Amino acid sequence: MAEIILTADRALFTDFSGVNTLGFGLCLPLRLIPRFVEYRILAPAVPMEKGRAVHAPYALGKVEASLLVAGFRRDEISIVPPEHLEKVIDKDTRIIGVHTVDPQGLAPVSWTLRVMTGGGKTCTAHEFEKLMYKISRLKEKYNFKVIVGGPGIWQLRGLEKKFNIDVLYEGEAEITFPVVVRKLLNGEEVPKFVTGKMVPPEEIPTIVTPSRNGHIQITRGCPRGCQFCKPTMLFFRSMPLDKILKEAETNAKAGAKEINFVTEDVLLYGAKGLSLNSRTVKDLFEKTMKVIKKYSINMITFSHVTLSSALVLKNAVEYISELNELSENNPLFPQVGFESGSPRIVDRYFRGKPYPWKPKDWPWIVVEGSKLLNENYWYPCLTYIIGFPDATSDDYAKTTEVIDRLKEEGFKGWTFPLFLVPIGGTRIEGKAGFKVMKGLPNEAIESIIAGWDISIDFSKDIYPKIIEKIRNPLVRRIINMLIDKTFEAMENWVISIRKDPEVIERNFSSVNIRELRGLLFSIPKIVSLGKRRH
Ligand code: SF4
Repeated sequence: MAEIILTADRALFTDFSGVNTLGFGLCLPLRLIPRFVEYRILAPAVPMEKGRAVHAPYALGKVEASLLVAGFRRDEISIVPPEHLEKVIDKDTRIIGVHTVDPQGLAPVSWTLRVMTGGGKTCTAHEFEKLMYKISRLKEKYNFKVIVGGPGIWQLRGLEKKFNIDVLYEGEAEITFPVVVRKLLNGEEVPKFVTGKMVPPEEIPTIVTPSRNGHIQITRGCPRGCQFCKPTMLFFRSMPLDKILKEAETNAKAGAKEINFVTEDVLLYGAKGLSLNSRTVKDLFEKTMKVIKKYSINMITFSHVTLSSALVLKNAVEYISELNELSENNPLFPQVGFESGSPRIVDRYFRGKPYPWKPKDWPWIVVEGSKLLNENYWYPCLTYIIGFPDATSDDYAKTTEVIDRLKEEGFKGWTFPLFLVPIGGTRIEGKAGFKVMKGLPNEAIESIIAGWDISIDFSKDIYPKIIEKIRNPLVRRIINMLIDKTFEAMENWVISIRKDPEVIERNFSSVNIRELRGLLFSIPKIVSLGKRRH
């Protein structure tokens, strides 16, 4: 068996039924996700073939590629889904590398969903803990070393003993990770906390194991410098096009349904600082499409875009839409940071985001940028932050004004409030705390409700189209059955908190639908909460 096993918990080691947005469901408290919904729909298991996962979270593929380039043989490394660890770990196992993103449920979406639903351990935290206890038991028997790395490392400082972790690994893997592994294999001392060196893009190797849902990283870092953001602490780099095309081919050959670019802003590809380049962006899409069309794939999606970039590179936005043949029935759903409608907050916490415009122009950028995206069938999820340290009622009112403007303009997409999280390693860490509902001014609650109103209306329109993409017909039917009740519950949640925000603590914190019995009893209860309060 392999000496080095790479793995991740079930909330990461899955393909989310082929629909990436379903992954956000795992940020909800465990008590609100029925067991069969988690394991059959949100996080179905990844199969193995010849002792390896058929596809892997992209980060694990990069770690594997880095080890190969550093001289390890493929048969010395195996990427394994968590359910199969007992079958592959044995006396030959020397190192387990664990990738983690949200091990304690403190990432912004998880924290927000906890606050808004009355708290509890998230599925992400539950799955991480389950994995680490399993690894601990096996470690007692086989005495290997455990390295845990990934963007969620900041949540684990001080918990190394609890989870039996030998090395907490922060930062980029490509140069430093193989050195750490080699040292551990040689029995040399390795610090308990290691920071990986930043890697020049030409030294980043291409993946060998296909990535889930066709993920390919096209940029690292972001030059806009927002204070609450971790990726901006990395130098901004674009990946060489030939490497991206090679990874597109690897994924397409393995049967990916689409290619999904991982980036902080797709329109930054090839930029020099904040000087954007429409030619490099168009080239990226055109050449990738040429590669994947050979495999009858004709869709390239991406994770994030910035509204100011979209207004600068309008022609690239149009080009991407035409190339993908987007339409009402075939839109894109990028994530977009709206953050706040108050120029004062923009100036204080994210003054680089409106560039080349000024903080005072941000409300205009949000409205006009969203219109541009919608005209091109990009239906974004606009996230905004509740709880900037010195946010006033007036700042929240300005955010609501922008949301109201979006509504007037017929915005198609989600407007989703996120409670501020001082992520470890960001500029805002140490200057802010984890925000909760209690103590928020009325204007903040109003801005939360305004965002949810748009999101619920849009979800009702769009979910039938998203659900069509789920491969398994039985799963599709089950989701359809659940979804109407879920929307009804969400609407009543909004009615309830509009009247009394404390209802979350009082009533929602006791809802538990993890088991079928709880589901049958609780859904009518949630649905009726808002009705009773009319
Ligand atoms: S624009 Fe987005 S990715 Fe860039 S620094 Fe700001 S929050 Fe981070």
